[in-house]
Amino acid sequence: MASVKLKRQPVLESEKSCLESCSNNDSEEDPPGKRSISDDLEEEPPSKIATTRYRFFRDIPDSLWNDWKWQFRNRITRVEQLTQFIPLSTEEQAQLRLVAMRYPLSVTPYYLSLINPDDPDDPIRKQAIPSPMEMTMGSMGLEDPLDEKRDTVVPGLVHRYPDRVLLVLTDICPMFCRHCTRKREWQNGGWVRSPAEVEAMLDYISRHKAVRDVILSGGDPLTLSTRHLENIISRLGKIKHVEIIRIGTRFPVVLPQRIDNELCSTLAKHGPIWLNTHFNHVREITPEAAEACDRLLRSGVPVNNQSVLLRGVNDSVEAQTRLCHALLRIKVRPYYLFQCDEVQGTEHLRTPVEAGIKIIEGMRGHTSGLAIPNFVIDLPQSGGKVPLQPNYVLAQTEGELVLRNYEERIFHYRNPANLVPAEPPAETLYPAGSAAANVPQEAAANLG
Ligand code: SF4
Repeated sequence: MASVKLKRQPVLESEKSCLESCSNNDSEEDPPGKRSISDDLEEEPPSKIATTRYRFFRDIPDSLWNDWKWQFRNRITRVEQLTQFIPLSTEEQAQLRLVAMRYPLSVTPYYLSLINPDDPDDPIRKQAIPSPMEMTMGSMGLEDPLDEKRDTVVPGLVHRYPDRVLLVLTDICPMFCRHCTRKREWQNGGWVRSPAEVEAMLDYISRHKAVRDVILSGGDPLTLSTRHLENIISRLGKIKHVEIIRIGTRFPVVLPQRIDNELCSTLAKHGPIWLNTHFNHVREITPEAAEACDRLLRSGVPVNNQSVLLRGVNDSVEAQTRLCHALLRIKVRPYYLFQCDEVQGTEHLRTPVEAGIKIIEGMRGHTSGLAIPNFVIDLPQSGGKVPLQPNYVLAQTEGELVLRNYEERIFHYRNPANLVPAEPPAETLYPAGSAAANVPQEAAANLG
């Protein structure tokens, strides 16, 4: 197939401000994609991924390919463009156009290059390319299942738990993930919080002393320019009771070139900052993604992964084990495995809850605990996260538990009584006539 000529996409005003404000500092000292720290990834070797890139984008020089702003500007957002990369029948094109009217399409050239265009069931494709089932099953689920609107105390600030808040700074994302919980925001045309809105959020946080943990979210907060982001982070850092900042971003997965030296040195200045990202499949862990995580880690930013359990993407023990092992190899901790929220337009990607429990059961004992994420449901109506585990307790009495292990072997475990034994009488410890019985009480205590 011939290399595809990309037509630059119109950039929204809000996106323009994100991109332009960081365009003065284009000279990256160490462009991504030159050095690999993960040459031995399981299955899909990097060379295969590169082949897919060069199949479609061989005319794009590395200098552009590794420029996150080029990637961002050249996102594929129309079905007509998609047909240049992925074979789609006329009927499929018509269906996807309909879907995209309600749930728009946006995918970076980088992420598109990870898709196997010849496989309609490709796990990367399922996350990025619309499916007609988003509409045919669209009546199932809720628009805002987590009821974030209810906990929004000032525009963009969600305060659900006592000690932490979530700041929704923009609705712009480098890619529209088909399983996104905030799919309802995609129609809003791309916005970034105004300076006045940011001030109101900062003011709220400084007045609420219980808030020790602030999560920057979106959309994707890393679509903001580094300078804009630094302004917010440094202001948060000046609020005494804010102990940590967390950034929720999918950039390391869908556009790892964004994790450049400028961003990393900015984050390094303002720690402690944690970054939670969202790898769902082992094939997303490319050399570029591995390097992005490595740059973050070297800048003192711990990276955790929050994956979402998705039908046909990662809903097997094997897929999860491969993903989590690959994450550990790049020193990213598998943190959460989320049951896919009941969001309208995602039902076709959701799995029964039992699937997640079976995955955890299939991993426990067969690999290290470090590789096993917490499987959780984020409850609707602001209920918060509930961890779900396989049941290993077969029976329990006051004095004993009957437990099964990962090999289905049964064990009886004595349950220590929750009693502090009464202090024995002094004569039991020091029989009458012994030397200790004659020393004063305080000194006897010291003998013990
Ligand atoms: S990057 Fe995150 S917020 Fe944006 S579409 Fe994907 S899942 Fe949703």
